[in-house]
Amino acid sequence: MDENNLLKEFNNELDQAFQKAWHSEKGGDENWNSFLSSYGVSPLTKENKDFLLNSDMKIARGAFPIELRRVFEKIIEKYRVLESSSPMLASAIGKFDMEAKVKEYYQKIKPFSGLGDIFKNAATGTQKYSSGLQKEKQKTMTCKNCGAPRLEEMQYDNCLFCGSKLFETKE
Ligand SMILES: [Zn+2]
Repeated sequence: MDENNLLKEFNNELDQAFQKAWHSEKGGDENWNSFLSSYGVSPLTKENKDFLLNSDMKIARGAFPIELRRVFEKIIEKYRVLESSSPMLASAIGKFDMEAKVKEYYQKIKPFSGLGDIFKNAATGTQKYSSGLQKEKQKTMTCKNCGAPRLEEMQYDNCLFCGSKLFETKE
């Protein structure tokens, strides 16, 4: 295949995944799930989805960022095999910034946070969290990419919300 076409296809596929996730119903829907399975990616469990929907990581629409990340990973994997035949593609893959891409997506599905939202969250959302966070107030691990708290009682290595491996400790 022509080098240009290969690069174009790579970019189109990334963009298509982004759009599909964005146009999905809040937390994912049937259409998104079948898109995921076409890449061999499993959606989050219902338990994890419910947990996230009730957490402070509010979303107004779209699939969860971690699921889009998994699709991006599959797309990169797929094109990496063709990398040697196209320096342009190799360069595009090398430049692909996963954390930035996932964060960009998160910014798009976040609810508009006017003052009203801040007050509402102060009244409801944070209260739910504070009981759990109080215990470890001096040491809260949060995701460096999206800011989600890492909850010790849920055993996982990556951020449940966006899939990032990068955590930082906030004192
Ligand atoms: Zn995260």
